[in-house]
Amino acid sequence: MPSQFDLIVIGGGSGGLACAQRAADHGATVALIEPKPLGGTCVNVGCVPKKVMFYAASLAEHLRDAYGYGFRVTAEGHDWRALKLARDAYIRRLNDIYAANLERRKVRHLPATARFADAHTIVAGEEVLAAPHVVVATGGRPVIPGVSGAELGITSDGFFELERRPQTIAIVGSGYVAVELAGIFAALGTRVTLVIRHDRVLRSFEAMLSAALMKQMREQGLEIVDHAVPTAVRLVGDHHELSTADERVLGPFECVLWAVGREPAVEWLDLARAGVRQYDDGFIIANRFQETSAAGVYAIGDVTGQAALTPVAIAAGRRLADRLFGGQVGRYLDYDMIPTVIFSHPPIGTVGLSEAEARDIHGDAVRCYGAGFVPMYHALTEHRRRAEMKLVTVGPEERIVGLHVIGEGADEMLQGFAVALKMGATKRDLDDTVAIHPTSAEEFVTMR
Ligand code: FAD
Ligand code: NDP
Repeated sequence: MPSQFDLIVIGGGSGGLACAQRAADHGATVALIEPKPLGGTCVNVGCVPKKVMFYAASLAEHLRDAYGYGFRVTAEGHDWRALKLARDAYIRRLNDIYAANLERRKVRHLPATARFADAHTIVAGEEVLAAPHVVVATGGRPVIPGVSGAELGITSDGFFELERRPQTIAIVGSGYVAVELAGIFAALGTRVTLVIRHDRVLRSFEAMLSAALMKQMREQGLEIVDHAVPTAVRLVGDHHELSTADERVLGPFECVLWAVGREPAVEWLDLARAGVRQYDDGFIIANRFQETSAAGVYAIGDVTGQAALTPVAIAAGRRLADRLFGGQVGRYLDYDMIPTVIFSHPPIGTVGLSEAEARDIHGDAVRCYGAGFVPMYHALTEHRRRAEMKLVTVGPEERIVGLHVIGEGADEMLQGFAVALKMGATKRDLDDTVAIHPTSAEEFVTMR
């Protein structure tokens, strides 16, 4: 006989943990199946260790800037291994906290890989479990492109395993991971070559952000090789060479890192047995209630291929649990106006439509406002990084449909503005808000 639960959650990452805990808070009996350390991508090989590395890189920049503020500091290099050990210990503490949180809520954790026997029966190692509600929250993994010698490269997962910092690296890709890791390596002293297929990084974002970031990356000494489609990686001695479709040979590089997107982790699940339909690229099809094609089977987070961000997975998981077990009929996650930060150097904050997207939808009704300036912090530093901001508004009432910023503090600046946009703020609302001085954020409420 299978062990019976109200809810079975497959995957103990951001979405799965949030859903399981919220359901348990509502009184449901819950099993959560996760073979790896709890926390999933975000905690183990994503947001959290990445942010630690972002802080390290930011400190390197502050040390460099300190001279302008009168400090005479001599840094004796950077101990990557010491940082990794401290980071790994921090992550282990988080894994333990997650385990304790499940225990406290009496969520049964099974450290196994799950597969469907049918839509409501799950096999987890030696155990068979059954529930009227099953949530798939299995996330994804980095794509390794099918080029010759691709296995010689690492991915973001391998980045977190590096025991020492390479002196030279080629990072292939142009999205979040590529620009974030490029900024970290460059600030810590690695010679970075960013290899992109088109003419700009972050192509799906506001063009102003890509242009400003690329300019600042080049000023920091990063090389950006554009219109380069990798076709092969070759080991020459102890270094790598990267060939491109137009017959360029790039390198030598101590390390090659693929940052070309992620694919869903679905191969162990036997989704066909449950009748769960997928898109051609394997992501699970889910409606706004996170329902899949199989009744009582839901999918949340990265495995759905929608807005692959931790707070999105968490919000989807919590809303689903509130709807199923908390009596909150009709509750679902609205995927509109999701704010996001790219932890590049400098960071980017962005929410809503780019100017190009807004013009596609609203045509001439779009009016944009912009500001570009050197933040006051850099008034005394040798290295100066500009900040750029943009507001995209629509219609005579100038409703703000997009807000974009690159520069120091952009990461901490965005959340409050995202609330305003979600509430339907207009340009006039920002104009009527008194500025906070001296900050960079005040530019958003003083634009003309
Ligand atoms: P995951 O966190 O990936 O969890 C899925 C879990 O399911 C895994 O633990 C896996 O082991 C388990 N699993 C898989 N198959 C099975 C199975 N058959 N049985 C049982 N368990 C299974 N997002 C942000 O918001 N901010 C950031 O700064 C940020 N930085 C990132 C940096 C990097 C380098 C990466 C790669 C991602 C980053 N993200 C960031 C994205 C974020 O990590 C993901 O959106 C988030 O982790 C998705 O959560 P999830 O629950 O959908 O999946
Ligand atoms: P992204 O989807 O962000 O970017 C990958 C990019 O790589 C593509 O957009 C594409 O850009 C390029 N690319 C794709 N295939 C190839 C190829 N074969 N050769 C060369 N370039 C290629 O993926 P990431 O891996 O960077 O990140 C995955 C997701 O994780 C993100 O979308 C985000 O949701 C999440 N994440 C969030 C972070 C945050 O919140 N700060 C940080 C890190 C990840 P193009 O078409 O222009 O070539």
